[in-house]
Amino acid sequence: MKNKKRIVVIGGSASGPKAAAKARRIDNNAEVIILQKDPDLSMASCGYPYYVGGYFDDRNMLLSTPTGVTRNPMFYLNAKDIEARVNTEVTAIDRDGHSLSFRNAITGETGSMTYDKLIIATGSVPRMPPVPGVGLDGITTLQSMKDADFLRKVGDEGKIKKAVVVGGGLIGIETCEALHLADIEITVVELLPQLLTFLDWELAKLVENHVRTKGANVITDNGIAEFLGENGRLTGVKLANGTELPCELAVVAIGVRPNVKLAQAAGLIIGETGGLAVNEYMQTSDPDIYAVGDCVEVVNRITGRKVLAPYGDLANLQGRVAGENAASENCVTFPGTIQTGICKVFDYAAGSTGLCETAAKKLGYDVITVINASPDKPNFMDAKLLVTKLVAERKTGQLLGAQCVGPGNVAKQISQWAMAIQGRMTVEDLVNCDLPYAPPFSLAIDHFIATAHIMQNKMKGRMKGISTAEVWQKVACDGKPFLIDTRGPDEYEQMRLGIGERLIPLGALRMRLNELPQDKETEIICFCKISLRGYEAALALEGNGWKNVKVMEGGVMAWPYPREK
Ligand SMILES: Cc1cc2nc3c(=O)[nH]c(=O)nc-3n(C[C@H](O)[C@H](O)[C@H](O)COP(=O)(O)OP(=O)(O)OC[C@H]3O[C@@H](n4cnc5c(N)ncnc54)[C@H](O)[C@@H]3O)c2cc1C
Repeated sequence: MKNKKRIVVIGGSASGPKAAAKARRIDNNAEVIILQKDPDLSMASCGYPYYVGGYFDDRNMLLSTPTGVTRNPMFYLNAKDIEARVNTEVTAIDRDGHSLSFRNAITGETGSMTYDKLIIATGSVPRMPPVPGVGLDGITTLQSMKDADFLRKVGDEGKIKKAVVVGGGLIGIETCEALHLADIEITVVELLPQLLTFLDWELAKLVENHVRTKGANVITDNGIAEFLGENGRLTGVKLANGTELPCELAVVAIGVRPNVKLAQAAGLIIGETGGLAVNEYMQTSDPDIYAVGDCVEVVNRITGRKVLAPYGDLANLQGRVAGENAASENCVTFPGTIQTGICKVFDYAAGSTGLCETAAKKLGYDVITVINASPDKPNFMDAKLLVTKLVAERKTGQLLGAQCVGPGNVAKQISQWAMAIQGRMTVEDLVNCDLPYAPPFSLAIDHFIATAHIMQNKMKGRMKGISTAEVWQKVACDGKPFLIDTRGPDEYEQMRLGIGERLIPLGALRMRLNELPQDKETEIICFCKISLRGYEAALALEGNGWKNVKVMEGGVMAWPYPREK
């Protein structure tokens, strides 16, 4: 009788257990084993910031099934017939001998086992800045359950008053909120000129402004030069420009790199990005070894280039594919990513899918962009703002990317854009999209479709849009354009840009044309709260002979610069 096939998975958090569980479902007779270095299994790392921030108190919820059963070795054995060994670090892979060596992290005991198919799911390791003082007590990451336990204790004890979060990416921002909820004074320090680099600058700036309104401090364009300490404990951080920020805690969140040490030592091919190279079956350069999750590089479905995409959803999807292929010979594929992501920012969300304008231009695309700031629902249903930036290929209208920020339902918007991009849709395909509508959920023309309408107007030359960045530059120059704020006087009283604009409400515009420059070639820029009235004003002016009329996209709601009021 043929021996049972043995499928061994290295790594037991997100993608590893998913691969093991799928392999078991495909082959009921196989022997499936997970070797996990950490003491826990199946940790919901994406939930760490919410545990730290006190959204829930029971840490077991991070390890539980939807029905509340903790995913421990006993659960895997009984419910799934999978042997899961925790505290077990794989130390070497012998590809010729189809075997691996491991060591128990607690007892130090070593051992080895053979495999028929191996799945590497070793995740990523956090990057640390190469600066003095990085080993001081009080410096941590938020990458492991141990880190989450430590930061939760910090919050519960309430002794620490000031903290610095190094890095303004997704995890940095979520950590900022979590520590803020624990009443800790926070400064986020980011080396680049903006937070959340998956967004273009102007949307990232709106997020930064929002973070500031919550009382957190943000420093961009400034890296960390040194961690300062006394008697081995952190007392502050010094920035590249010499600024010193006293603090008792620093959380480093400057990104992760694929954990490929084991794979590299085993001679598996590592790609240019630093991730383990895999084909569409999630198979490495050794046909008997698969790899999944943060440790691999995958194809960007828009550009065809290899990228690192350390996202929990992709890790799980890849796990399913590798598990099935390892159990039943290559039969399913993972097509790649369009790098869709979302992040909670206090009571805002920030999400992105596909390419932002900066990335698309770097890759050589000729792009057209549009910004739509508008509510997600009717006003009578507690409408919330959404600011979306859409990026399309100028010639074809093919969607390349979308970003969305605001207090409204960003996740819904980004999901729609992600499907449209994966379906290779164009702007024209979207303008008559059939989406669900009822007032509690959306407007009759959903924000998503309205964004496509604005883009269509722009592509057809009906609307000449101008970005807030261009307006800001023009305002700083001599010979600035004639700016018209078309809102009502009450709105103007409450909030205004103060960049030399003239208030002419839309309803009064046709009667007040004599106040406009009589040279019909003069550049005129119209805007309102969200630039819908601004667009109508621009059409009215064009109808009256003005030839160079533009609409500031997104209006006052998308203005990322300081305002007079
Ligand atoms: C704080 C935080 C928030 C996040 N939020 C989101 C989010 O909102 N959305 C999102 O999509 N993604 C998010 N992510 C990213 C997501 O968690 C990861 O992409 C995902 O966990 C990767 O899964 P993985 O299986 O590749 O690696 P991991 O989940 O990191 O698991 C790898 C496991 O392998 C084990 N291991 C490593 N080496 C060995 C070895 N030699 N032997 C045995 N075991 C080994 C490790 O101990 C580890 O448990 C977040 C991550 C963090 C840290």
